[in-house]
Parts: sequence; structure tokens; C-alpha cells
Amino acid sequence: MEDYYQILGVPENASEEEIKKKFRELAKKYHPDMGGDPEKFKKILEAYRVLSDKKLRSEYDQKRKMMKEGFFFDTPFGFEDLHSFFRQQSFDDLLADLIEDFFSFTPEEKRDIIFDLEVELPEIIKGTNKNISYKRKVVCFNCDGTGSETKKLIRCNVCGGSGKVFKKSSFFTGFIFETAKRCNNCSGKGKVPERICKICQGRGYTIKDEIITVNLPPKFNPKEYIKIPGFGDQDPLTKKSGDLIIRISVKPHPKFTIRGRDIIGEIELSFIDLILGKELTIDFLGDKIRVKIPEGYRGEYLRIPGYGINNGDLILKIVLKPVKKLTPKAKKLLEELRKELEEE
Ligand SMILES: [Zn+2]
Ligand SMILES: [Zn+2]
Repeated sequence: MEDYYQILGVPENASEEEIKKKFRELAKKYHPDMGGDPEKFKKILEAYRVLSDKKLRSEYDQKRKMMKEGFFFDTPFGFEDLHSFFRQQSFDDLLADLIEDFFSFTPEEKRDIIFDLEVELPEIIKGTNKNISYKRKVVCFNCDGTGSETKKLIRCNVCGGSGKVFKKSSFFTGFIFETAKRCNNCSGKGKVPERICKICQGRGYTIKDEIITVNLPPKFNPKEYIKIPGFGDQDPLTKKSGDLIIRISVKPHPKFTIRGRDIIGEIELSFIDLILGKELTIDFLGDKIRVKIPEGYRGEYLRIPGYGINNGDLILKIVLKPVKKLTPKAKKLLEELRKELEEE
């Protein structure tokens, strides 16, 4: 893992604004289309991915300290992850296009789009509708995906139609070898548009802003992906669209956590409640649940079936309620109680 601060050329205490500004500048400067090195460009994207996110940044700051002591960490993001992140960002048009272009430059078989959706725990329990906005590629209407104003393609004159260009290089030993590279002029296709389409600049697709509503039914298991067929990228050649895949993460809740299908929380009971038993009403995210603690209850947890996810349970850890004020009278009664119980 590299030094992301160095890559972006910002100080360790740089503000979010500074980071964004610097990123814009560098992304335009180092984009492969502007003659930049793709690896370097990818590093810039990665650095921005981490430093623009508060949580990731603070995690990274810790790792960075350790890296200075010689520890080594793996790069946390694959290409796909980066791509799905940048699809959800809003930049000015030129930069958004440049970034999208970079990702589409690499051969990408997959047309599915992964969208990360964060929801609150009560939304998982009660169900919710979420609007999500993202960008996807659609076939350019003007050229019907050909990239050509006339919808006709002609042979690429840079590579002669082979899609490859050869370069002769030599070592100082005099050994000459030939390397083949993908032709940049036609992106390896061997054909180029007769006249570049004005709408898509020859790419065959345009970027469409999509806003869709996702319906989460009550008690939806957040581990499951939601797949919306046909809402991924559309391939200019085959016209087939991939799927939109929604990955859910649940924001931490102050009182409850999800563990598997169960929801874990706490309940405060006094020792008298446990000895004598009690009927009480619990407020579970707005739902009133009647529960009965049996007399002489000795469990550590209270399990309320069916209130979890997918028929899981609500499990409440019993926390002993401290005695707030031990008045002389209460003390006397307790002493009497002790005597009474010990005499048995
Ligand atoms: Zn070519
Ligand atoms: Zn077009």
C-alpha cells in the first residue's frame, strides 16, 4: 500500500475540500487519455477513494504509522470496487467522463453494476423505500452503438485493421525484439468510425443518470444482494444490459446490533424482577412488545421469537438494574428478606 498523501501531494491534515481539489487537478493531468500512466492514474483514484472517506482515512492513518515501522498492507480495493465507488460520486462532467472512460478502457466483460447502499437498522426491520442515483452506460441513440455518425465503420489505418501495433526495441547488447501493443487508435478493434459520432465521441455509449426506487420489505436480510435486472451497463455492440446489484450495509445502531438472523440488545431488570417475575412492555424500535419474566428467572438472556430478521429472534441480554437509593427502610426490609430466605 502506498503513501496516499504523497500520491495526492497533500499534507496529512488536509481538509476534505483540499483533497477533492487536488484530486480533480491530478486526475485531469494524469489521465491516460492525456498521456498519463494508467497505473499512476489508478493510484490516484485509490488514494482519493481512501482519503475522501472519513472512516477509511482514519483506518489508513493508523496503518500508515505502522507502515513507517516496516509493516506492509495490501491494497484494499480491486478494480471493480473502485469502479463502483466512482460511479456514485458526483464530479463535474469532464472529470466524470474521464473517470468512466478509464474504467471502460480495460476489457470489461462484466456489465453488472454494484451499488453500495447504507440503511438504518429500523429501516431493515420495518422495511423502506430508498431512492438511489447512479450512472450507467446506455447505447448512444445517435449512432446506435457504432460510434460513427454514419453508423459505418472503416478499417483503422494505424494498425491496418489488426488491432495491434508493433514496436521494435533493442537492448544495449544489440538484441532487437518486437513488442505488440493494443492499438490506441481503435482500442484494438481494428475498425474506427467513418465519422466520429458527435453525441458519444465515438464510444458508442453515453452515460445516463438513473434514479430508481428500491423497495426493502420488512425484515429484509441485509446479507442478501438485491438484483435489478437490466439496470447495469448496456453493451454498445450486443445491446445487452447487465444488472444492478445492490449491496446493503447497516449503520450502527446505539441500542441494537444484528447477529446472523437475530437482533441483540439489552434489558435492565432488578433482582426483585428476576425473583418475583414481571410482566412488562418493551419498546423495540417503536414496536411495543409484551413480555413475561417468569418467577425465579435465571437465564442471562431474554429471547423473544420472531422479532429478528427472517424469523430470527430478538435477544436481550439481562443487565442488573442497580439499586438507586438504599433508604433505611429498604435496607431494613432487605435484611428481613434475607433472614426469611436463609431460615428456610
Ligand atoms: Zn487500430
Ligand atoms: Zn454515438
